[in-house]
Amino acid sequence: MNHQALDGIMTPRSIAVIGASSTPGKIGYTVLSNLINQGYKGKIFPINPGAEEILGLKAYPSVLDVPEDIDAAVITIPAKIVIPAVEECGKKGVKGLVIITSGFSEVGKRELEEELVQKAHEYNMRILGPNIVGVLANSSGMNASFAPYLPLPGKASLVSQSGALLIAIDASTYVRGVGFDKLISIGNMSDLDFADIIEWLNDDPNTTAITLYIEGFKNGRRFMDVCRRTNKPIIALKAGVSSHGAAAAASHTGSLAGAAKVYGAAFQQAGVVQASDLDNLFDRTLALSLQPPMKGDNLLIITNGGGVGVLATDAAEKYGVPLKFAPAEVQEELKKHMPEFGSAKNPVDLTGMAGTEWYHNAIKFAYAHPWVDGLVVLYCETAVTDPMEIAQGIKSAIDNSGANGKPVTVSFVGGERSDKAMRWLVDHGIPAYGAPDRAVNAIAALNEYARNKTLLAEPITLCGGENRNEALQIIERARAEGRDSLTEIEAKQVFALYGLPVTKTLLAKTEDEAVSLAREIGYPVVMKIVSPDILHKSDAGGVKVNLKDEQSVREAFRTIMANAKAYKADARIHGIAIQEMAPWGTEVILGSVNDATFGPTMMFGLGGIFVEVLKDVTFRVAPVSTSQALRMLGEIRGAPILAGVRGEEPRDKRALAETICSYSTMILDLADEISESDANPVLVYAEGKGVKVVDARIILKKK
Ligand code: ADP
Ligand code: MG
Repeated sequence: MNHQALDGIMTPRSIAVIGASSTPGKIGYTVLSNLINQGYKGKIFPINPGAEEILGLKAYPSVLDVPEDIDAAVITIPAKIVIPAVEECGKKGVKGLVIITSGFSEVGKRELEEELVQKAHEYNMRILGPNIVGVLANSSGMNASFAPYLPLPGKASLVSQSGALLIAIDASTYVRGVGFDKLISIGNMSDLDFADIIEWLNDDPNTTAITLYIEGFKNGRRFMDVCRRTNKPIIALKAGVSSHGAAAAASHTGSLAGAAKVYGAAFQQAGVVQASDLDNLFDRTLALSLQPPMKGDNLLIITNGGGVGVLATDAAEKYGVPLKFAPAEVQEELKKHMPEFGSAKNPVDLTGMAGTEWYHNAIKFAYAHPWVDGLVVLYCETAVTDPMEIAQGIKSAIDNSGANGKPVTVSFVGGERSDKAMRWLVDHGIPAYGAPDRAVNAIAALNEYARNKTLLAEPITLCGGENRNEALQIIERARAEGRDSLTEIEAKQVFALYGLPVTKTLLAKTEDEAVSLAREIGYPVVMKIVSPDILHKSDAGGVKVNLKDEQSVREAFRTIMANAKAYKADARIHGIAIQEMAPWGTEVILGSVNDATFGPTMMFGLGGIFVEVLKDVTFRVAPVSTSQALRMLGEIRGAPILAGVRGEEPRDKRALAETICSYSTMILDLADEISESDANPVLVYAEGKGVKVVDARIILKKK
């Protein structure tokens, strides 16, 4: 990609402000005065055809009149005159454009925005925006925005899709004590999007962690690729997680796949750590920007109070780093740094008697011990200890431990003196929080980051067949009949082409044919209505199971036909499917959606009729390898059911995971054709006995 253009925007040596103004209150005034007064060292050129001089700088009618090179142009003029200005920038050889102006796609003016991008690309320029606040960078003292001041300095950089939120975050950095080097507003993302900025920040020496506020974007696959290749922690808050588009979904999966779930899956697969809300985004950013990843799962908590210790223990379980007792030799040593009534288990309770020395010695030993992968230090303010002294003791213990490369987070609960001590800790590279669960959540983020990174290193092996041409033939036949869904029989044929184990299923047009096909398949059989107009067959009385002889097949044929007609008089009926009766097994659901952002995405959950109520499902962007699929099986609340409950044998997880893997190959291979699909239920048998898909549904993309 064009790094130069982005350098021009992020670290420009000279900036032109197009629309610079000497009238306070105008954006062109604010941007110019922010650049002049907040430490920017490069050259600044105000552009305004109606002025000789603005804020003490010589003004030029056009960038073309500026006698020197211009790296970045910050554009604040009205939307309708932006394109000619961009043309001039191109002729001048400007590298990058920061377009603050609004009034483009966000108000429906898509074509104007496209024209703008085209014009910029003609001259090899890239666009940040339009409709943005601007770019702020502490490392270069550059406030190229209309936000009032640079943020509290820090090591993370924030990319925000919301301008208003960026300004609010800017102010709140001082109150929260969480700093940033850069704040980058990306607005409409007409050209540069999250992926481009992340790619650039990965090489930015002033950024150690990348913080994202996301509302939604288009090219999810590219985002994932870039995040995977990034070697700095990325933390994201996705807004707008309430379910979208669920109302009209035709499949079970469609109604279960909210944006939150799919984004969540994609983040995990791309190694991106998620934040649950704005506070959490700051908390996790602080830890990820200051501390190394937590490479194992052994978390040790050291505290002077039982209460905060218990709260931290609860949080550890909640956030995925449950506490274990430290080995005996660790406990023995720790006992030396506490009174008789202390506890060397985990959490390690030094008791309210603990002064700086005990803290120091216990931390110094624990931090260096190979069993410990991460350390949380808790402190309750007491009458006999000085928070600042404790803070300094913590810092020197870590520094003198002889170890490094492990994370530590801290929580002080107390008053002003504790707050001050925590600020001191943060200034010295140790994240500190006002509540124990926040310190634990922060270290959990470092553990999540390390785990995600390990998963990324795992090769993705695909499974299943690839019979695209045959599958396309089946799909084309359905389309030729004007249908946008496949019948169960057709869907199962497509599934089978990709190696999914489906029940043998044949189509009977007449009662006599039903009898002969039943004999061919072997009793007992299942019979189901086959109609493009009846998607939920049971609802229409269209399913009869466990039919053991000719007599029952004949009766079922008549009943199903009658039921179908009663259900929907004008339903097109292809006939009745005769299929082998699969033995009982645990019912699960597999399904797919073609997500607008991330494309083909797999779902797995416990099946049966309550699936939409329980919503106990999990997602992965395709392709899904067998080992990834095995992890999906462990993610749902009902996971223990697959392990075998109440004396049942454990289920064949391996076969189920392979089926998920093959399914994911299918939806990827047929991404242009399939919009949604599901297999509900898939019956899962005891270990070694495999799985069986007994129902299948494929909804086609509209063409
Ligand atoms: P629909 O979901 O359209 O109502 P299904 O094909 O899923 O219809 O059938 C309804 C239920 O009948 C399934 O949930 C399953 O319990 C049972 N069933 C369907 N087909 C078979 C089969 N081939 N073997 C055993 N049970 C089946
Ligand atoms: Mg079904």
